Amino acid sequence: MRKPIIAGNWKMYKTITEAIALSSGLRRELFKIDSEKMDIVICPPFTALSDVAEVINESNIKLGAQDVYWQEEGAFTGEVSVGMLKDAGADFVIIGHSERRQYFNETNQSVNKKIKAVLRAGLVPIMCLGETLAEREEGKTFDVVRQQLTQSLEGLSRQQLMAMVIAYEPVWAIGTGRNATPAQAQEAQKHIRDLLVRMYDKESAQAVRIQYGGSVKPENTAQLMQQPDIDGALVGGASLNQESFINIVKMTYEVKEKCLQS
Ligand code: PEP
Repeated sequence: MRKPIIAGNWKMYKTITEAIALSSGLRRELFKIDSEKMDIVICPPFTALSDVAEVINESNIKLGAQDVYWQEEGAFTGEVSVGMLKDAGADFVIIGHSERRQYFNETNQSVNKKIKAVLRAGLVPIMCLGETLAEREEGKTFDVVRQQLTQSLEGLSRQQLMAMVIAYEPVWAIGTGRNATPAQAQEAQKHIRDLLVRMYDKESAQAVRIQYGGSVKPENTAQLMQQPDIDGALVGGASLNQESFINIVKMTYEVKEKCLQS
């Protein structure tokens, strides 16, 4: 079975003081979750990365960033490199989030360059993809996802594929309170895995973890996590609240443990 992974995307929220408070609370409340059985990742804004890294040092919680630039260094004002993220203590990097695609001109081509830079540095990319509402209503979901996947993974080996995480995040479900139904999410994620079988092979496609993201909250976590191709969640809004995020993590842990036993 694939190791479940819950990641919290804090977006442009939390000052350093607030980030320290939230990460301290998570560390205190989640210490019983076995890191051999599940990954917990929190992705604060850049400004809070190194402080949060100190708080969660030697705990079962890992650090992620929300974006990166692919160049190693140089005159790229406002950008942050993979080396800088590593230096700050990050292990994961979210790439191609729909908010970056929508507001900051992120494309499948830039996503591809960023994934390669992140993998080169030995960090784990969490690559986001998903269709808009209009695309879903026009019946284009599978086509959109296929194009995002093939262009973003261009030139990557099967070893590189297995070293990354994919997050299926339908744009219409992000921050809207309207999550995909477990059946919709499972259908899309199985489609992604089937595409990976065709692009690579069965073994590597089966090894890749695919998260669902889009209005995940404690109330819908259990049903979503029962789906065979959902290996965890990328959580936005609900990760900003200590209790909600803790509940999502604990529920995922329990559901996946049960799936393993049955
Ligand atoms: C996200 O930011 O990736 C996300 C899924 O947000 P939300 O959970 O708020 O929909």
